[in-house]
Amino acid sequence: NLFDGKVALVTGGSSGIGKSAALLYAREGAKVVVSDIHEESGMQVVQEIEQLGSQAIFVSADVSKPEDCERMVQQAVEKFGRLDIAFNNAGIGGESNTIGDMSIEGWNKVISINLNSVFYCMHYQIRQMLLQGGGAIVNNSSILGQVGFANSAAYVAAKHGVVGLTKNGGLEYASKGIRINAVGPAFIKTPLLSGMGEETLQFLTSKHPIGRLGAPEEIAELVIWLSSDKASFVSGAYYAADGAYLSQ
Ligand code: NAD
Repeated sequence: NLFDGKVALVTGGSSGIGKSAALLYAREGAKVVVSDIHEESGMQVVQEIEQLGSQAIFVSADVSKPEDCERMVQQAVEKFGRLDIAFNNAGIGGESNTIGDMSIEGWNKVISINLNSVFYCMHYQIRQMLLQGGGAIVNNSSILGQVGFANSAAYVAAKHGVVGLTKNGGLEYASKGIRINAVGPAFIKTPLLSGMGEETLQFLTSKHPIGRLGAPEEIAELVIWLSSDKASFVSGAYYAADGAYLSQ
């Protein structure tokens, strides 16, 4: 297995892309720390992992709070002794408005949950990985980490910021055994899109040359690869998984 003896942490692991990645890490032999603000669904993921014959714990943490991110890493190390892999994935869609109409609170909320969180998580994860001599971090950006999308300025700015943090982390720690990369999903069928009507979903689908939205597993597979030693020369990079969305 790819991750035998390794410990993987997933933020936003209760649902969607994070849940898929948590299950794949476990299938490849990792002990998994599932972290989220939603405990009930997170505990279900832990149970699914245990049914696969792997070990997992749930850690309740709000990634927009630095103290929660610190505790998340501490609990991973207390339980499993180390932290080899982190998938910083938790995120929200947030307020849909043009810049002129977007509320200050709406802006701050998305920046806090989708961008500041990735800095906090990396900050504590990297300190632990340095103690161990290495690790792999994957941050969940988006196609909107590369291009704009009307009425989503905070989300677009946060996801571009995640790409910037990834590049900087990549270059700062390349010689220290920590690889840091970002994935860029296009629109993926997860609860994040559940508020959207049929018409919006059809419009979104039409923007993907592949002719459909993605599935969470199709992102998780890329995350798994980037987390593994198979990607040993890959760091500081952004990888889209987008049905050719960005090729237009
Ligand atoms: P999802 O809603 O299914 O899962 C997100 C998880 O993050 C949920 O379990 C939620 O409880 C958790 N979460 C939210 N706020 C949190 C906080 N403050 N602290 C800790 N956990 C929190 O959504 P998803 O589609 O799987 O999204 C996962 C990531 O993928 C997000 O960063 C999102 O921006 C990104 N993404 C999603 C899509 C898409 O179309 N679904 C596209 C590109 C990128």
